Amino acid sequence: MRSLGLICTACGKEYSDGHFRCECGEPLEVVIEKKKTVKIGFHRSGILNSFSDLLPGLEDKNSLSLGEGFTPLTRLGDTDSSGMELYAKNESVNPTWSFKDRGSYLAVLDAIRRGYNHIGTVSTGNMAASVAAYGKRAGLETTILVSDSIPDEKVSPISIYGCRIIKVAGDYGQLYYNSLEAAKNSGLYFANSDVPMRVEGSKTIAFEVFLQLGERVPDFVVVPTSSGGNLRGIEKGFRELRESGLSASIPRLIVAQAKGCCPIDLAFSSRASEITRIHHPKTIAHAIENPYPPSGNAVLRILKQNDGMTVAIDEANILKAQRSLANNGLFVQPASAVAYAALSKLRSEMDLRKAIVVAVLTGSGLKYPAILKEHSSYVESTALASLEEVLKKRPTLH
Ligand SMILES: *Cc1c(COP(=O)(O)O)cnc(C)c1O
Ligand SMILES: [Zn+2]
Repeated sequence: MRSLGLICTACGKEYSDGHFRCECGEPLEVVIEKKKTVKIGFHRSGILNSFSDLLPGLEDKNSLSLGEGFTPLTRLGDTDSSGMELYAKNESVNPTWSFKDRGSYLAVLDAIRRGYNHIGTVSTGNMAASVAAYGKRAGLETTILVSDSIPDEKVSPISIYGCRIIKVAGDYGQLYYNSLEAAKNSGLYFANSDVPMRVEGSKTIAFEVFLQLGERVPDFVVVPTSSGGNLRGIEKGFRELRESGLSASIPRLIVAQAKGCCPIDLAFSSRASEITRIHHPKTIAHAIENPYPPSGNAVLRILKQNDGMTVAIDEANILKAQRSLANNGLFVQPASAVAYAALSKLRSEMDLRKAIVVAVLTGSGLKYPAILKEHSSYVESTALASLEEVLKKRPTLH
């Protein structure tokens, strides 16, 4: 087994395989060995072979891929006359309907490579379902830790995969750290939100966008951000494309958060170098409701370096954006709609003429159909005999 190199995103301390975070408390990332020539391109067998030159050396001997990645980059039609090119990277079409599958796939392969037979995560949403799906498919013992206040409607879409679910009473934010600590002694691989393999998985979003734009780098990428793992992956992907000589620039990254839980936006706006815990987070965008994101400081460092920005969106505008995206044919989770809402705000604050902008739509709206009751729906009725007459009339649209 070839060992992987890891490096701290803050202090630069190097580690070998088997670590998740640095002694200094900050997250680690995988060091990708420099190659003379790097080639990437879509390969029908999946993300591993498509991007192998820029991914850690993992093998999928047992065909565990579920077809993650290769998601559409959809042009959004509501661009203004400024010539802005706006795209949605539609992650809702992944095997368990969110981008988490990219990282779960690599984490499962990494766990197997390192001899684990037990995988787990801390999550009540998309990551839980994703790890459950990939863990069970791989034949690994699979344990999901959830908060004890989780509603039943969120438990059943996780338990359907046949994993073990444990409700943990106590501080849910702290559970992330306790699980990684417990993992050291229990032979359990915790594929939590921002572990190095998740970040590697999210890199493939950057690679795909680059290829789908005809080997161009967008000017801006808007990412709904919670733990910060996905944003770190997307940035690392573009950074490695540049380091390998495939591209000349890195997009400016926009962190999109909900006003009801925006620790990264608050820290960035006040020029702090560290995030502060949010005490009473409250938003309908549950997938991005982390009050103390484990990669929050790492994200702040990235934003500073690449001239990035943060945007926080209130609840009414999240719902409005969810509706607008649906009018474009894309029904995504409130958390994903936050990225789209952030665009309107950006447009009013800066010149986006001729800019290429990508909004990452992280997960499917069907995950939380309960949100539909927040949106008005208007249905007409008619007797069969009057159908023709009714169809001739102009509808009363909402
Ligand atoms: C996990 C998730 C996010 C947040 O990603 P992080 O890597 O935690 O920042 C955003 N949207 C959806 C739909 C998610 O499932
Ligand atoms: Zn460190």
